Amino acid sequence: MQYAITPPEHPSVAIAGSTKRFPVRRIFCVGQNYADHAREMGADPDRKPPFFFCKPADAVHESGTPWPYPSRTADLHHEIELVVALAQGGREIAKESASDCIFGYAVGIDWTRRDLQAAAKKDGRPWDAAKGFDHAAMLGPIHPHAATGHIATGRIWLAVDDVVKQNGDVSQLIWSVPEVIAELSTLFELRAGDLIYTGTPAGVGAVRRGQHVTGGIDGLGEISAAIV
Ligand code: MN
Repeated sequence: MQYAITPPEHPSVAIAGSTKRFPVRRIFCVGQNYADHAREMGADPDRKPPFFFCKPADAVHESGTPWPYPSRTADLHHEIELVVALAQGGREIAKESASDCIFGYAVGIDWTRRDLQAAAKKDGRPWDAAKGFDHAAMLGPIHPHAATGHIATGRIWLAVDDVVKQNGDVSQLIWSVPEVIAELSTLFELRAGDLIYTGTPAGVGAVRRGQHVTGGIDGLGEISAAIV
């Protein structure tokens, strides 16, 4: 087959301990999957379950390289998240077998133009400009679960200029990772290459150009980026 124009490069991310790379198919995200974060966003996690939204695959930005502050926002927020990378997928996946789909785990940041998100919520409009902008999906290297085991507990944290802002534990997820995969697979056919951002604990807040963000999850190392 011949393309009429040069096809865009396929998005991919590094794999810890390997020279091979993980090709990204889709990026799914879970909203309000930690009760304390749902409350800080003005929601009641006892009445409304978590939900999903997406970012484009080419929004991935590998940690360790300078991160460009986006246009059209004055309230750019960090959301540190456990990210799951799938080696296989399917539809209507049972919670009990969902872990079989997992390739590995990574530390990610779901960057959010909070001001645009608030305006979209107010007007009942889509979140794409708030969540799906260029570079909005920061990601550290993917750690194969064969090396780390499955991640169900462990500290998840983020610091801005060495001041800790978010400090939670993966065990606080409302929907566990297998539950997220099972639930998501009732809405979409999941496939190899999919990434799932599983939600953020409380403590989200704004960053400015010139600041430095670090974050980590027990067992998955740390990520860092200068905001430029
Ligand atoms: Mn998020």
